[in-house]
Amino acid sequence: MSLIATPPSMTDASHHHNSLKADIILHSSDNVDFPFFKLLLSLSSPFFNGMFDLPSDRPEMSGLDNRGGLVVVAVDETSRVLTTLLSFIHPSNPSPSFDSLETSRLVLQAADKYGMDDVIHKVEAALMSSDFMEHEPGAIYAIACSFNLEKAARAAAKLTLCHPIPFPYSPELEYASAASIHRLLVYRQACIKKGLEVCPELALRDSGVSCSICPSAMNELQGFSVKLWLWNFVQAVCERIQEAPCGDVMQYVASARPFIKLAINCQACRNTAMEIFCRLAQGLKKEIDEEISAIHLEVKV
Ligand SMILES: [Zn+2]
Repeated sequence: MSLIATPPSMTDASHHHNSLKADIILHSSDNVDFPFFKLLLSLSSPFFNGMFDLPSDRPEMSGLDNRGGLVVVAVDETSRVLTTLLSFIHPSNPSPSFDSLETSRLVLQAADKYGMDDVIHKVEAALMSSDFMEHEPGAIYAIACSFNLEKAARAAAKLTLCHPIPFPYSPELEYASAASIHRLLVYRQACIKKGLEVCPELALRDSGVSCSICPSAMNELQGFSVKLWLWNFVQAVCERIQEAPCGDVMQYVASARPFIKLAINCQACRNTAMEIFCRLAQGLKKEIDEEISAIHLEVKV
């Protein structure tokens, strides 16, 4: 960053803000001028606050450009990043967002550099409420770990459980440390272990009765008796849990179809099979979610 007297301005981004009352110009690395407000920058950043506290007769503060006599501060950020960064500072934008995860990372990087703690918290909140959270939780986990965003890291890590690994590649993963990915895998293993405990327990507790007509799975259960079609469903669910240990009820319903077909072949089971499947799927969602919420993910902050 430097203060320059006559920036090689090619574009003016004044339409982004009320430039009439601007008292500073930020000049992006791709030559776009951003008329802005010293007060907002000072309040949000100790870096800028210190800069504006410098006496105006200091050589680095005496550079005035030839358009309105405003000091121009050349920054390292591109206009795309600067637009988003300033939108998180300007009060006219109550719910700022970003167009890509790359932009969110670069904004965090700039906010970190300028000591903009409030912006970092706002970006974390925006990440957690963004659509990226559902579709690219692995990438958000990587970003969150890079900037010590504990809440976002935990929320994203939990959502990664709904995706088989390896997650789809994201360039943001390049910025994650091997240690943070290791911690995520340890967390995932603990969640899988808990899910594999919960599933058979729930099936036995809720529906653990045999049928007088169709075969039971008593031999597999060391004394417990349960309908074989139901137990086979439990085994199928356990396979899904090993791939994606989350409480997503739809994955259990999808797994149930072939076993429901078997159940309706039994005169005694056909009337209750759907009810048992639905109850089990709902119970799995609730209990797996609860158990996983209690599993600790180590996050380095
Ligand atoms: Zn039966």
